[in-house]
Amino acid sequence: MRIALVGIGKIALDQHVPALAASPDWELAATVSRHGRVEGVEGFARIEDMLEARPDIGAVSLCLPPVPRFQAAQAVLRAGRHLMLEKPPGATLSEVHILRDLAQAQGVTLYASWHSRMAHAVAAAKAWLAGRVIHEGRITWREDVRKWHPGQDWIFQAGGMGVFDPGINALSILTEILPMPVHLRAAELDFPENRQAPIAARLSLSHGIAADFDFRQQGPQTWDMEFQTDAGQLALRLGGNLLEIDGRPATGEASIMGEYPALYARMAALVRKGASDVDLSPMVLTADAFTLGSRRIVEPFVF
Ligand code: NAP
Repeated sequence: MRIALVGIGKIALDQHVPALAASPDWELAATVSRHGRVEGVEGFARIEDMLEARPDIGAVSLCLPPVPRFQAAQAVLRAGRHLMLEKPPGATLSEVHILRDLAQAQGVTLYASWHSRMAHAVAAAKAWLAGRVIHEGRITWREDVRKWHPGQDWIFQAGGMGVFDPGINALSILTEILPMPVHLRAAELDFPENRQAPIAARLSLSHGIAADFDFRQQGPQTWDMEFQTDAGQLALRLGGNLLEIDGRPATGEASIMGEYPALYARMAALVRKGASDVDLSPMVLTADAFTLGSRRIVEPFVF
């Protein structure tokens, strides 16, 4: 199946292009980007031009930041093509509701992808937690924004989500593995005085689960979550890729490179089945943190 990639920036080049090159299901047939290119692939600057010129391309994958994404997503669905969205699936929930309805009306697949759910140990963690009672949980998602998002000013603009850009990955794992729904009880968000999105956040969730997101981490980077249950302790480390049970390694692989091949395999399966997958629960928790969270102004941030 032919697919076009839109927004040739960091994640497109780091993950999507290699995953598509290795995929038995997909051929990268075109790109859309004002500045980015992929060698040997036809490039367009405007999505409308690509959709018109290449009716043979049946699917489009959007790697744009969340705010400019909606317009492109609507154009793809209106043109009757299947659509895969990077996380978070939109800048607002109502945008994604509209896209979900439009995809259904057009009879095409919409896949709101959550790459962290494809990490090596997430399915095993979900299986282990099934039927257990969670007494307490702790999520620690602390990374250096200068290392992982160099110069990406959009991330600190309104709608860029700030530290929730990585934090929503933790929430996507949490909402996948828990045996029950979870909701936000309180949040505290730290906004740099010169920015419109938080650089750190602390969340208090139901079932005694606390989350600590921080974009200012120097030295070792941490993407961990730990749960105390009625029948032992589970820890997921390295963004869901390594599983420990009662302090001992259980399964997983210390690599994130399996996530995007798994996303594209899932997209292919959805297209073949004529199905969609649009789970907004990680985004609901994020939106609730912005709605309910108290705000602290902290020192200015410059890249
Ligand atoms: P990026 O490199 O800053 O942006 C991707 C591309 O989007 C840009 O190169 C740009 O290409 C295009 N674009 C179109 N309108 C834009 C606008 N208004 N502002 C900025 N860029 C615009 O971002 P990214 O890191 O690849 O992230 C894109 C999406 O992937 C985000 O939703 C992010 O959460 C997700 N993601 C990122 C990572 C990561 O590690 N970086 C990991 C997983 C998921 P042109 O200028 O050529 O049009």
